[in-house]
Amino acid sequence: MRHDFTPPISRPGPRRRPVLTAAALVGVCLTAAGCADGDGGLPPGAAQETASRSASSSPDATASSPAPPSSSPSTGSGSTKPVPRGPLSGRTVVIDPGHNPGNRDHTREINAPVKMGTGTKECDTTGTATDAGYAEALFTLDVSRRLRTLLEKEGAKVVLTQDGDRPFGPCVDERARIGNEEKADAVVSVHADGAATGNRGFHVILPAAVHGDGADTAKIVAPSRELGVRIAGNFVRTTGSAPSNYIGGNTGLDTRDDLGGLNLSTVPKVFIECGNMRDPKDAALLTSKGWRQKAALGIADGISSYLTR
Ligand code: ZN
Repeated sequence: MRHDFTPPISRPGPRRRPVLTAAALVGVCLTAAGCADGDGGLPPGAAQETASRSASSSPDATASSPAPPSSSPSTGSGSTKPVPRGPLSGRTVVIDPGHNPGNRDHTREINAPVKMGTGTKECDTTGTATDAGYAEALFTLDVSRRLRTLLEKEGAKVVLTQDGDRPFGPCVDERARIGNEEKADAVVSVHADGAATGNRGFHVILPAAVHGDGADTAKIVAPSRELGVRIAGNFVRTTGSAPSNYIGGNTGLDTRDDLGGLNLSTVPKVFIECGNMRDPKDAALLTSKGWRQKAALGIADGISSYLTR
Protein backbone atom coordinates (compact mmCIF):
# COMPACT_ATOMS: atom_id res chain seq x y z
CA MET A 1 0.00 0.00 0.00
CA ARG A 2 1.02 3.57 -0.56
CA HIS A 3 2.23 5.34 2.52
CA ASP A 4 2.33 9.08 2.07
CA PHE A 5 5.24 10.02 4.20
CA THR A 6 6.00 13.55 5.33
CA PRO A 7 9.21 13.97 7.28
CA PRO A 8 9.17 16.39 10.19
CA ILE A 9 12.06 18.39 8.75
CA SER A 10 12.58 19.39 5.13
CA ARG A 11 15.57 21.17 3.74
CA PRO A 12 14.69 23.51 0.88
CA GLY A 13 17.45 25.51 -0.72
CA PRO A 14 21.19 25.12 -0.26
CA ARG A 15 22.52 22.48 2.08
CA ARG A 16 23.40 23.60 5.56
CA ARG A 17 25.80 22.09 7.99
CA PRO A 18 24.21 20.18 10.86
CA VAL A 19 24.07 22.35 13.95
CA LEU A 20 23.57 19.63 16.54
CA THR A 21 25.95 16.79 17.06
CA ALA A 22 24.80 13.45 15.74
CA ALA A 23 24.70 11.97 19.23
CA ALA A 24 22.43 14.77 20.30
CA LEU A 25 20.21 14.18 17.28
CA VAL A 26 19.90 10.52 18.10
CA GLY A 27 19.16 11.44 21.67
CA VAL A 28 16.49 13.92 20.62
CA CYS A 29 14.85 11.30 18.49
CA LEU A 30 14.92 8.65 21.14
CA THR A 31 13.39 10.85 23.76
CA ALA A 32 10.79 12.55 21.58
CA ALA A 33 7.44 10.84 21.57
CA GLY A 34 6.84 11.80 17.96
CA CYS A 35 9.97 10.14 16.68
CA ALA A 36 8.76 6.57 16.55
CA ASP A 37 6.37 5.78 13.75
CA GLY A 38 3.95 4.11 16.08
CA ASP A 39 3.81 0.71 14.47
CA GLY A 40 4.85 -0.93 17.68
CA GLY A 41 7.78 -3.29 17.80
CA LEU A 42 7.46 -7.02 17.65
CA PRO A 43 8.56 -8.93 20.72
CA PRO A 44 12.18 -10.04 20.87
CA GLY A 45 12.67 -13.07 18.68
CA ALA A 46 9.90 -12.07 16.29
CA ALA A 47 12.29 -10.38 13.90
CA GLN A 48 13.18 -13.66 12.31
CA GLU A 49 14.94 -12.81 9.11
CA THR A 50 17.38 -10.23 10.33
CA ALA A 51 17.85 -11.34 13.89
CA SER A 52 18.77 -14.81 12.74
CA ARG A 53 21.88 -13.36 11.07
CA SER A 54 21.82 -16.16 8.54
CA ALA A 55 18.91 -15.31 6.29
CA SER A 56 19.67 -14.73 2.63
CA SER A 57 18.70 -11.12 3.16
CA SER A 58 21.52 -10.35 5.55
CA PRO A 59 24.45 -8.40 4.09
CA ASP A 60 26.59 -11.47 3.75
CA ALA A 61 25.02 -14.67 4.85
CA THR A 62 26.65 -17.78 6.23
CA ALA A 63 28.48 -19.87 3.68
CA SER A 64 26.94 -23.19 2.90
CA SER A 65 28.24 -24.13 -0.52
CA PRO A 66 31.84 -25.26 -1.12
CA ALA A 67 32.10 -23.64 -4.54
CA PRO A 68 35.51 -22.63 -5.93
CA PRO A 69 36.70 -19.14 -5.00
CA SER A 70 35.98 -16.31 -7.36
CA SER A 71 38.82 -14.42 -8.99
CA SER A 72 37.33 -11.05 -9.76
CA PRO A 73 39.52 -7.95 -10.02
CA SER A 74 39.94 -5.70 -6.99
CA THR A 75 39.22 -2.28 -8.41
CA GLY A 76 36.55 0.16 -7.42
CA SER A 77 34.70 2.49 -9.74
CA GLY A 78 36.17 5.96 -9.46
CA SER A 79 34.66 9.08 -10.95
CA THR A 80 36.29 10.52 -14.06
CA LYS A 81 34.96 14.05 -13.79
CA PRO A 82 36.89 16.74 -11.90
CA VAL A 83 35.79 17.26 -8.32
CA PRO A 84 35.30 20.86 -7.10
CA ARG A 85 37.17 22.11 -4.06
CA GLY A 86 35.22 21.95 -0.85
CA PRO A 87 35.34 21.00 2.82
CA LEU A 88 36.09 17.37 1.91
CA SER A 89 38.90 18.12 -0.56
CA GLY A 90 41.74 15.66 -0.10
CA ARG A 91 39.48 13.09 1.57
CA THR A 92 38.54 9.75 0.06
CA VAL A 93 35.18 8.09 0.66
CA VAL A 94 34.45 4.57 -0.56
CA ILE A 95 30.78 3.73 -1.00
CA ASP A 96 29.82 0.07 -1.18
CA PRO A 97 26.46 -0.55 -2.86
CA GLY A 98 25.36 -3.81 -1.25
CA HIS A 99 24.93 -6.87 -3.49
CA ASN A 100 24.73 -6.57 -7.30
CA PRO A 101 21.70 -6.81 -9.58
CA GLY A 102 23.56 -9.51 -11.53
CA ASN A 103 24.23 -11.75 -8.52
CA ARG A 104 21.04 -13.73 -9.12
CA ASP A 105 22.47 -14.95 -12.43
CA HIS A 106 25.83 -15.95 -10.94
CA THR A 107 24.88 -18.33 -8.17
CA ARG A 108 28.02 -20.43 -8.42
CA GLU A 109 30.35 -17.46 -8.23
CA ILE A 110 28.61 -15.68 -5.36
CA ASN A 111 28.34 -18.89 -3.34
CA ALA A 112 32.11 -19.35 -3.37
CA PRO A 113 33.44 -19.18 0.21
CA VAL A 114 35.78 -16.40 1.24
CA LYS A 115 37.64 -15.90 4.51
CA MET A 116 36.21 -13.14 6.65
CA GLY A 117 38.15 -13.20 9.92
CA THR A 118 35.64 -15.16 12.00
CA GLY A 119 35.23 -18.04 9.56
CA THR A 120 34.14 -18.16 5.96
CA LYS A 121 31.18 -16.60 4.21
CA GLU A 122 29.63 -16.68 0.80
CA CYS A 123 31.38 -14.37 -1.65
CA ASP A 124 28.23 -12.29 -1.86
CA THR A 125 24.44 -12.66 -1.70
CA THR A 126 21.56 -11.59 -3.89
CA GLY A 127 20.02 -9.32 -1.27
CA THR A 128 16.33 -8.90 -0.59
CA ALA A 129 13.48 -7.15 -2.44
CA THR A 130 10.14 -5.53 -1.77
CA ASP A 131 7.02 -7.68 -2.15
CA ALA A 132 6.45 -5.91 -5.47
CA GLY A 133 9.91 -6.95 -6.67
CA TYR A 134 12.06 -3.83 -6.25
CA ALA A 135 15.48 -5.35 -5.62
CA GLU A 136 17.71 -4.26 -2.78
CA ALA A 137 20.62 -4.27 -5.25
CA LEU A 138 18.88 -1.57 -7.31
CA PHE A 139 18.09 0.42 -4.18
CA THR A 140 21.69 0.31 -2.97
CA LEU A 141 23.05 1.42 -6.35
CA ASP A 142 20.61 4.32 -6.57
CA VAL A 143 21.30 5.62 -3.07
CA SER A 144 25.06 5.15 -3.56
CA ARG A 145 25.06 7.17 -6.77
CA ARG A 146 23.08 9.96 -5.09
CA LEU A 147 25.54 9.83 -2.20
CA ARG A 148 28.48 10.08 -4.60
CA THR A 149 27.02 13.20 -6.21
CA LEU A 150 26.50 14.86 -2.82
CA LEU A 151 29.98 14.04 -1.53
CA GLU A 152 31.71 15.12 -4.73
CA LYS A 153 30.00 18.50 -4.42
CA GLU A 154 31.82 18.83 -1.11
CA GLY A 155 35.15 18.02 -2.75
CA ALA A 156 35.58 14.38 -1.75
CA LYS A 157 37.15 11.75 -3.96
CA VAL A 158 34.47 9.05 -4.13
CA VAL A 159 35.00 5.44 -5.19
CA LEU A 160 32.19 2.91 -5.53
CA THR A 161 33.03 -0.76 -5.03
CA GLN A 162 30.72 -1.49 -7.96
CA ASP A 163 28.70 0.79 -10.16
CA GLY A 164 26.51 -1.66 -12.04
CA ASP A 165 29.57 -2.15 -14.22
CA ARG A 166 30.40 -5.77 -13.45
CA PRO A 167 28.36 -8.97 -13.85
CA PHE A 168 28.34 -9.89 -10.14
CA GLY A 169 29.93 -9.11 -6.79
CA PRO A 170 32.48 -8.02 -5.70
CA CYS A 171 32.94 -10.62 -2.99
CA VAL A 172 32.72 -9.25 0.55
CA ASP A 173 36.48 -9.56 1.08
CA GLU A 174 37.15 -7.60 -2.07
CA ARG A 175 34.62 -4.96 -1.02
CA ALA A 176 36.70 -4.47 2.13
CA ARG A 177 39.96 -4.53 0.20
CA ILE A 178 38.86 -1.73 -2.11
CA GLY A 179 38.38 0.59 0.88
CA ASN A 180 41.70 -0.50 2.35
CA GLU A 181 43.65 0.00 -0.87
CA GLU A 182 42.11 3.42 -1.37
CA LYS A 183 43.20 4.26 2.21
CA ALA A 184 39.67 5.61 2.53
CA ASP A 185 38.92 8.11 5.28
CA ALA A 186 35.45 6.57 5.57
CA VAL A 187 33.58 3.65 4.00
CA VAL A 188 29.83 3.11 4.02
CA SER A 189 28.13 -0.05 2.79
CA VAL A 190 24.55 0.71 1.73
CA HIS A 191 21.81 -1.88 2.30
CA ALA A 192 18.13 -2.33 3.00
CA ASP A 193 16.90 -5.13 5.20
CA GLY A 194 14.56 -8.07 4.64
CA ALA A 195 12.82 -8.64 7.98
CA ALA A 196 9.21 -9.45 8.88
CA THR A 197 6.31 -7.08 8.29
CA GLY A 198 5.95 -4.65 11.18
CA ASN A 199 9.70 -4.41 11.64
CA ARG A 200 10.53 -0.87 10.63
CA GLY A 201 13.22 1.76 10.61
CA PHE A 202 16.92 1.98 9.88
CA HIS A 203 20.00 0.80 11.69
CA VAL A 204 23.72 1.31 11.30
CA ILE A 205 25.97 -1.73 11.76
CA LEU A 206 29.31 -1.16 13.49
CA PRO A 207 32.35 -3.46 13.44
CA ALA A 208 33.02 -5.53 16.55
CA ALA A 209 36.54 -6.15 17.85
CA VAL A 210 37.78 -9.04 15.70
CA HIS A 211 41.30 -10.41 15.56
CA GLY A 212 42.64 -13.34 13.58
CA ASP A 213 42.55 -15.06 10.23
CA GLY A 214 43.46 -11.92 8.33
CA ALA A 215 41.19 -9.62 10.31
CA ASP A 216 42.12 -7.00 12.89
CA THR A 217 39.56 -4.33 13.63
CA ALA A 218 41.19 -2.98 16.80
CA LYS A 219 42.05 0.35 15.19
CA ILE A 220 38.74 0.91 13.47
CA VAL A 221 36.21 0.05 16.17
CA ALA A 222 36.19 3.49 17.81
CA PRO A 223 36.33 5.68 14.67
CA SER A 224 33.73 3.48 12.98
CA ARG A 225 31.38 4.02 15.91
CA GLU A 226 31.93 7.75 15.63
CA LEU A 227 31.14 7.56 11.92
CA GLY A 228 28.08 5.42 12.56
CA VAL A 229 26.64 7.62 15.29
CA ARG A 230 26.95 10.68 13.07
CA ILE A 231 25.31 8.90 10.14
CA ALA A 232 22.46 7.66 12.36
CA GLY A 233 21.79 11.12 13.75
CA ASN A 234 21.78 12.78 10.36
CA PHE A 235 19.67 9.99 8.85
CA VAL A 236 16.99 10.63 11.46
CA ARG A 237 17.09 14.33 10.67
CA THR A 238 16.89 14.13 6.87
CA THR A 239 14.49 11.21 6.46
CA GLY A 240 12.35 11.48 9.58
CA SER A 241 12.69 7.70 9.91
CA ALA A 242 12.92 6.26 13.37
CA PRO A 243 15.72 3.93 14.45
CA SER A 244 14.86 0.28 13.96
CA ASN A 245 12.12 -1.07 16.19
CA TYR A 246 13.45 -4.63 15.92
CA ILE A 247 17.21 -4.43 16.33
CA GLY A 248 19.62 -2.27 18.28
CA GLY A 249 17.26 -1.45 21.17
CA ASN A 250 15.97 1.72 19.47
CA THR A 251 19.46 3.19 19.24
CA GLY A 252 19.72 2.77 15.47
CA LEU A 253 23.07 1.07 16.11
CA ASP A 254 24.07 -2.59 16.06
CA THR A 255 27.49 -4.20 16.39
CA ARG A 256 28.38 -7.39 14.51
CA ASP A 257 31.37 -9.67 14.10
CA ASP A 258 29.95 -11.81 11.31
CA LEU A 259 30.27 -9.45 8.35
CA GLY A 260 33.37 -9.88 6.22
CA GLY A 261 33.00 -6.40 4.81
CA LEU A 262 33.52 -5.00 8.32
CA ASN A 263 35.90 -7.61 9.77
CA LEU A 264 38.39 -7.21 6.94
CA SER A 265 38.34 -3.43 6.84
CA THR A 266 41.40 -1.53 8.04
CA VAL A 267 39.71 1.85 7.62
CA PRO A 268 36.64 3.26 9.42
CA LYS A 269 33.58 1.55 8.00
CA VAL A 270 29.91 0.98 8.74
CA PHE A 271 26.93 -0.61 7.06
CA ILE A 272 23.54 1.07 6.99
CA GLU A 273 20.28 -0.84 6.62
CA CYS A 274 18.10 2.02 5.43
CA GLY A 275 14.77 0.32 6.12
CA ASN A 276 12.92 -2.97 5.83
CA MET A 277 11.99 -3.82 2.24
CA ARG A 278 9.51 -6.47 3.42
CA ASP A 279 7.42 -4.04 5.42
CA PRO A 280 4.83 -2.25 3.25
CA LYS A 281 5.25 1.12 4.96
CA ASP A 282 9.03 1.04 4.82
CA ALA A 283 8.86 -0.28 1.24
CA ALA A 284 6.80 2.75 0.24
CA LEU A 285 9.65 4.93 1.45
CA LEU A 286 12.45 2.86 -0.05
CA THR A 287 10.78 2.89 -3.49
CA SER A 288 10.37 6.68 -3.45
CA LYS A 289 13.05 8.64 -5.31
CA GLY A 290 12.45 11.61 -3.06
CA TRP A 291 12.98 9.53 0.06
CA ARG A 292 16.12 7.95 -1.39
CA GLN A 293 17.53 11.43 -1.92
CA LYS A 294 16.84 12.24 1.72
CA ALA A 295 18.50 8.99 2.72
CA ALA A 296 21.58 9.81 0.66
CA LEU A 297 21.64 13.30 2.15
CA GLY A 298 21.56 11.94 5.69
CA ILE A 299 24.39 9.53 4.99
CA ALA A 300 26.41 12.25 3.22
CA ASP A 301 25.92 14.70 6.07
CA GLY A 302 26.96 12.03 8.56
CA ILE A 303 30.13 11.29 6.61
CA SER A 304 30.87 14.98 6.17
CA SER A 305 30.30 15.63 9.86
CA TYR A 306 32.68 12.79 10.73
CA LEU A 307 35.40 13.94 8.33
CA THR A 308 35.30 17.57 9.45
CA ARG A 309 34.94 16.94 13.18
ZN1 ZN B 1 21.95 -6.18 1.97
